[in-house]
Amino acid sequence: MRRAVLISLALGLAAAWPARAQGEPAAIGAAPRRGPAAQRSGRKGAPAIRGRGRVTIHPDWATHPATRYAALDADACRAEASRRSLEVTAVESAPGVLAPVRIPNGVGGVVFRTAAPAHQRASSPFDVFDCRIVLALHDWSALLRAHDVEEVLIFSAWRPGRHASGAPERRHPGGLAIDAYRFVKRADPISGARASLDVDRDFHGTPGAPPCGPGAPPPRPESIEARELRSIVCEAADQHLFTVMLTPHYDRHHKNHLHLELTPDVPWHLVR
Ligand SMILES: [Zn+2]
Repeated sequence: MRRAVLISLALGLAAAWPARAQGEPAAIGAAPRRGPAAQRSGRKGAPAIRGRGRVTIHPDWATHPATRYAALDADACRAEASRRSLEVTAVESAPGVLAPVRIPNGVGGVVFRTAAPAHQRASSPFDVFDCRIVLALHDWSALLRAHDVEEVLIFSAWRPGRHASGAPERRHPGGLAIDAYRFVKRADPISGARASLDVDRDFHGTPGAPPCGPGAPPPRPESIEARELRSIVCEAADQHLFTVMLTPHYDRHHKNHLHLELTPDVPWHLVR
């Protein structure tokens, strides 16, 4: 794997951090679109980042999948989904979502869905995704399948914004984030039982500590399920499939799910 030089920006706690639905960060600060060379110079135009958290900027951020996917326009994303032969169905209207789609049969052999019955999912807003995050989920599915995961349960992808004007939004109002809470494995061929990894039950995290990397404490207790769940998160982090990955380490609002997000126009990523 390409060795990345990390420039960590440790950010202090901001008193002005606004309260958010489900405790997720507010706009962490969109940086102007700039190239890696400009980023390396570390001068003028450093990303306007506010709030708590510890974001990381890799010199090669512009080549990461999360950056490339987030920068696509609707046509380019649909063309890429088609090139990958993904089964996406277009959604007629989802204000705030650039390229709204449904993926009722999943992508890459993994179904991403809410717990609602299939007939409700066909019209539920929470099962609407922006096409761009579907590309990231497709990449992630290869890692998930290696863990025998065939289904990922989510609380929601899209959450319609209260003031959606039709302009593309970010995070859940833009269909650019999912809240994943359970990973269901293939049925055992003999018993037929389907094991699952549940974020609330199995993450066994350490609030405040990094979830991945050399400074990450192991899960306590270090159960097989906890280790596998950690692998699932950290393999995706290593591949830079998402811009933001918030785990139970982040805050109490994330004790039962992983918030995974593509954020357009930022040079950093955040894994907490
Ligand atoms: Zn979320």
